[in-house]
Amino acid sequence: IERTLSIIKPDATERNITGLIVARLEGAGLRVVAQKRVWWKKKQAEEFYEMHKKRDFFDELVQFMISGPIVVQVLEGEDAIKRNRLVMGATNPVDADPGTIRKDFAVNLQRNSVHGSDSPESAKREIDLLFKKSEIV
Ligand code: ATP
Ligand code: MG
Repeated sequence: IERTLSIIKPDATERNITGLIVARLEGAGLRVVAQKRVWWKKKQAEEFYEMHKKRDFFDELVQFMISGPIVVQVLEGEDAIKRNRLVMGATNPVDADPGTIRKDFAVNLQRNSVHGSDSPESAKREIDLLFKKSEIV
């Protein structure tokens, strides 16, 4: 059993489709063991995405992630990290497979509806950054 960090991004909260996305995650065998809706300050978005700070899309990504509320979640399941990225689909929705969250809901490469940790190391870092141990049940 493994845990991963998931975010439902502002483009999805804005369109009121967070429940549709959670249903996809649950349908893929992932269990929501922690969840909260938050509206990040710039500093929080910059810290979360610090590994991308040298990328040319960093400033726009931070602005997007603070443009509205997000839903942050810890997901649990067998191979949760890989399982979540499979149901999310490719970063750019034009490359995403049919039936994936990004294929069906993402607006474009930036406004791509969801985030999922990409390794056990990043999952631990992201979960520890956003949740207290007592919030995960
Ligand atoms: P995430 O980390 O959100 O799960 P990912 O791992 O598929 O997505 P990354 O390469 O880590 O993609 O990029 C992080 C996020 O930055 C993407 O999900 C997307 O919102 C945004 N992004 C990535 N590449 C670009 C780009 N070339 N132009 C604009 N935004 C981008
Ligand atoms: Mg990533």
